[in-house]
This record gives sequence, C-alpha cells and structure tokens, in this order.
Amino acid sequence: MSDNGQKMNEQAMNGQAVNGQAMNGQEIKTIELPSSITVRDFANKIECSPIEVIKNLMANGVMANINQQIDFDTAAIVAAEMGYEAQLETLEDVREDEKGEIPLWRRIIADENPEDLDIRPPVVTILGHVDHGKTTLLDAIRNTDVAGGESGGITQHIGAYQVKHNDREITFLDTPGHAAFTAMRARGAQGADIVVLVVAADDGVMPQTREAAAHAKAARVPIIVALNKIDKPNADRDRTKQQLAEIGLISDEWDGDTIIVPISAKLQEGLEDLLEAILLVSDNIDIKANPEGKVIGTVIEAERDRSKGVMSTLLVQNGSLEIGDMVVAGIAHGRLRAMFNHHGRNIDEALPSAPVSVMGFNEVPQAGDLFQVVVSDREARALIRRRKEAQKLAETQPTSAVTLEQLFDSYQTGEVRELRLIIKADVQGSLEPIITSLNEMSEGDIAVNVLHDGTGNIGENDVMLAAASRAIVIGFNVEADAAARRLADAKNVSIRQYDIIYRLTEDIEKALKGMLEPEEIETILGQAKIRDIFRISKVGKIAGCYVLEGELRRNARIRVLRANEEIFDGELLSLKHHQDDVREVKSGFECGVAIKDFSKFEEGDVLESYTVELVAAV
Ligand code: GDP
Repeated sequence: MSDNGQKMNEQAMNGQAVNGQAMNGQEIKTIELPSSITVRDFANKIECSPIEVIKNLMANGVMANINQQIDFDTAAIVAAEMGYEAQLETLEDVREDEKGEIPLWRRIIADENPEDLDIRPPVVTILGHVDHGKTTLLDAIRNTDVAGGESGGITQHIGAYQVKHNDREITFLDTPGHAAFTAMRARGAQGADIVVLVVAADDGVMPQTREAAAHAKAARVPIIVALNKIDKPNADRDRTKQQLAEIGLISDEWDGDTIIVPISAKLQEGLEDLLEAILLVSDNIDIKANPEGKVIGTVIEAERDRSKGVMSTLLVQNGSLEIGDMVVAGIAHGRLRAMFNHHGRNIDEALPSAPVSVMGFNEVPQAGDLFQVVVSDREARALIRRRKEAQKLAETQPTSAVTLEQLFDSYQTGEVRELRLIIKADVQGSLEPIITSLNEMSEGDIAVNVLHDGTGNIGENDVMLAAASRAIVIGFNVEADAAARRLADAKNVSIRQYDIIYRLTEDIEKALKGMLEPEEIETILGQAKIRDIFRISKVGKIAGCYVLEGELRRNARIRVLRANEEIFDGELLSLKHHQDDVREVKSGFECGVAIKDFSKFEEGDVLESYTVELVAAV
C-alpha cells in the first residue's frame, strides 16, 4: 500500500473524516465494482494488499477474511478511504441484444467454453392448424410419462413439461398456437430447438400449417411433421405428403430431409416413433448448454395467484437456477422462494432445458421475456432502472418501423442478409408471377426471402409473422383487415399494397438498392362550404363558410373545389371565428376565410383543408 493510503487508513481508523482529494491533494480515481466482490479481488482492484483492506474493514466494523465477499456499499466506503470513487459496475443486460438474428441465449451458450458444455434435453414446441390435434397430442405425450404417474405426482399445468424416452428427457412447451411462439421470437428469445408440425391427414396442409412452417423456417428451427388422425377413414397420407412437399417439407422417404411420422394422437399410436424422431433430430443439432454457466432462460407463462402470489414458469436455457437466486425478467424481479417441477414437486435446482414453476417475483413478468440471474437485489434494481430509462427514451424517440429503408441500412451494417417478405394476393394466379420475379431479384449478396405467401386479405397473423421475423407485408389487390392495420401500427410493421405487379417489383428492386424516394402522404382534415362572400377593405374578399365535416386548420393547405373540380390550391391568409383569429374551426361552426393569392370564390364552393407530409418510403 502507498504511504498515502497508509496515512488515510490510519486517519480513517482514528475516526477522522476522510476525503481523498482534500487530504492528499490527489485526483480521486474512479473504479467500477460489482455489487459484491471478494476481499482479494477488491484489494487487487484498488492495488493494495488484502491485509490493509481487512484492517480497514475491521475499522469500519466489518470482519472479513480474504476469500469473503463484501457488498458494494462496504467496498465503496473502503475504496473512498483509499482515494477511489467506486461506481457500480455496468451490468450486462440480456435485453439490449434481444433483437439480434440469433436468440441471445443461444449466443451466450456459443460463448461458453466448449469443454464446459453438456448435452441438454431438446425443447420442442407443437404447432399446426386449428383442430389438427395439437392439444390431443400434447396430452397423449404427457400420458406416456409413466414415471410421473407412478410416483403419484399430479401433473400440473405450468405451460411446459418433460417426458422421458429411452432414458432421455424431452421438454415440451405446452402452449399450442403460434401466439406464444411468435411472442417469444419477436423478443428474440425463441425457446424451441425443434418444431413438431401437426397436420391432420384428413384435412391436409391448411393456412396455419403454412404459417407455422414459415415461422419455424424463419427461426431456422428444424421441423418434424406429425401426420395426425391416420385412424380416420378419410385420412389421405399421400395427398398430405404431396402438399407438404409443395411447401418445402419433403419427406425423407422421397429423398427430402423432413421426417414425417404418421400418428393417431387420439388412439395414442405412433407416439414412440415421434419421440424417437425428436431424439434423432436433436442428435443432429448441437443441443447443449453449460449447467455451471451464466443463468439465462425464457419466461413461459406467468400469472398472479390469489393465495400464492406471482407464479411464473421459467424455462432454463443455460446455467442452473437455484432457490434463493435473484432473478430479473423484464422489469420484474425477486428472490426465488420456491420452485416446483411440472409434477408440482418442490425442487432446489433446475438444470438447462428444465421448465420450473417459481414463486418470488415482485410483479408478473411477461411471457416470452428473457430472465437472468443477478447477484443481488441492488444489481436487480439497477438493471430495472436502466431498462425503465431506456424504455422511456424509446417512447420519446420516433418509432423505428421495419421499413424497407431501415432494412437496407441493416444490410449494409451486415445485420440482415435478406429482405424478408410476406405476400398476400387476391388469387393464386397473381401470386406465382410475383414470387417468381421476386426470387430472381436478389441484389449482390442480399437475397429476397418470401417467408410466407397466400391468398386473401392481410390478417393479424401475417402482421405477427412479419413483426417476429422483421419482414414486410406486401398486398397485391387485397385489403388489410382493420385488426391487422392496428397491429401493424402497434408493432411498426410496414404494409405495402399494390395493384400493378411491375410497381411492386420496381419498389422491391429500389429497396434492395437503397434508393426509395420519400413519399408524399396527404391527409384531408375537413371540408367547409362557402355561404357568403364579404369584401373587407385592406384584406380583400372573405368567404363566410360553414364547416361541414372535420375541421379547417389555419396552418394547413387549402384547396377550392367547384362542382368537385379543383380550381385553386394554396394557403390560408386568415381564419376567423366571429372576430377572433383562430387556429382551427370544427364541423358545425361558421368561420371567415381569406386565401392567399385567391379571391374568386363563389357561393357554394367547397374549401378542403389538408396536410402533406413527406414520409420516408417504406
Ligand atoms: P387443436 O386445435 O390442434 O389443439 O386440436 P385438438 O387436439 O383440440 O383436436 C381437435 C379434434 O380432433 C378433437 O375433437 C380431437 O378429439 C380430434 N383428434 C385429435 N387427434 C385425433 C386423431 O388422431 N384421430 C382422430 N380421429 N381424431 C383426433
């Protein structure tokens, strides 16, 4: 320790006020400290001997040996006495990176030392068209879990469960439908390693089958097809396989790489084969994690229970979650008071791929959010404070839509390597030429990737898929449903509609080259009818109007219509209500209007107030 430090230390021990700068005239150095640190590491950081630190701690009433952890507050006091200003270390925030192409938890695993990685159970999600048998299959698989039944555990519905097959565990996410899957993907947390796509053999490939396949492909998650309802007399396996091949899921029997397992979820037939196929596929992809590593995972579901408080199901994806851990998910946090497995049994520890129901969060975390373990309450609060600040900032910033322009920017920075599109057209006949010409259009190493196409109006599901995949929705001769528009607004998904194919292809081509011109968007604010004309000296002619609908706005543009024909387009000179200058006049009220450079209005003319905005092309 330096002489200075020694002196300060002595003074501190004598109970004197210590101020590094005032006492020795030296600059106060700042150091970053974690929320808890061992005495040894702390001594290293402030470059003095551990013995001095221990002495100083004792002087402050803290008994600690060299290997013991001291918290930030204690360390900060000692640091101040040594001439350092301690700041809480900036934490790694799992949220900051969520929008990346590869889910953050996968990247965390990829950063682990390969030697520390162990095989973990595959996490499977079941998708498919409504009524094709997802729920029946999930129940049937759950019933194969003899171990659970034998030991008397009552299966709890916690949104996920594990079964054993050939002594190996498989985790199933028990939330069928894409809403959950999409929500997870939209947050970059996409939990599943494998998608089981249920297709009823009597009904074949249906719109949600195609959508689900598109989701899985966009997320680069392997698909196994469960060809369900083969017990039904009208089941047509070959026709369904043919339809699957048409959407790119070619059976391995036909030299493709999709395993298609015929099953009857209702009769519980073929389930063993399906589980076998899941293990086979998982052996081909690297399904690993470090049980000793950084603890991270996804919130599967969460609710407030009247008697138990906040109950949340967490899927551990790396590390091991333990009772007593301080967990942060979004802006919820808490120390885990109790953990239960899907049989409702109390457990102390959850390994990678295990779903657990936990108690301890202070508020209900959002399903699909990532969670992480931090070392202390202080760290949890700091993280949440930062998130809240970031959120506030984001709210005041202009929203960042997934626009063609922004996608172009992200290609240039190497973030995205493809332009993803979802295409809806009126008829199959117009879909094909559009897709063919788009597929031919890749520019440089940027590819056009049509994630999903179909006929009919643009619906909420199209927008959801676009939001989760950072894609753009293209409509050709179709409308967007009101709900889809609302969702697109909320999620900032861009919907572009066309009625001429070459305009569509031209725009995409421009987008690929980053050359989209800004668009002028006109909004009509209201209309008024001229009832009288007055002449006022100095000002000139004034039109006495009655506002028919909307409003006339002083600062907006104005056009004069006579018999529905535009006869003038320009700006207002004045807008008065009675004698007062006003900024706007609403429908049902009278007003006096003078127009710049125009006075030839007549009774019966209509004035239209409108705005024009220059908007970056989407
Ligand atoms: P989900 O909407 O995809 O979850 O479908 P459900 O699991 O609710 O199943 C829809 C209907 O199909 C129910 O009446 C089931 O009993 C029936 N079903 C499911 N699997 C089979 C099967 O393998 N064979 C037959 N015959 N019916 C089935």
